[in-house]
Amino acid sequence: MLGTLDATIPTTRWDAVLMCCYCRRVRTSSGMWQTPDLEPEGRVSHGICRTCLATYHPEISPPGDS
Ligand SMILES: [Zn+2]
Repeated sequence: MLGTLDATIPTTRWDAVLMCCYCRRVRTSSGMWQTPDLEPEGRVSHGICRTCLATYHPEISPPGDS
């Protein structure tokens, strides 16, 4: 049963680093996107930064938010 699996996952904090899958920058705690000096360790969650969103997916980029 999968129900028992939940007990092994810490629920205190989710430390995933959000990385843009287009430009490989990572989002800092202050919300800025920066190129990391090293590949981030630990959990990496892939997403898309605002710049690449506007570049590659302008149709879903928030209007007027540049
Ligand atoms: Zn990007």
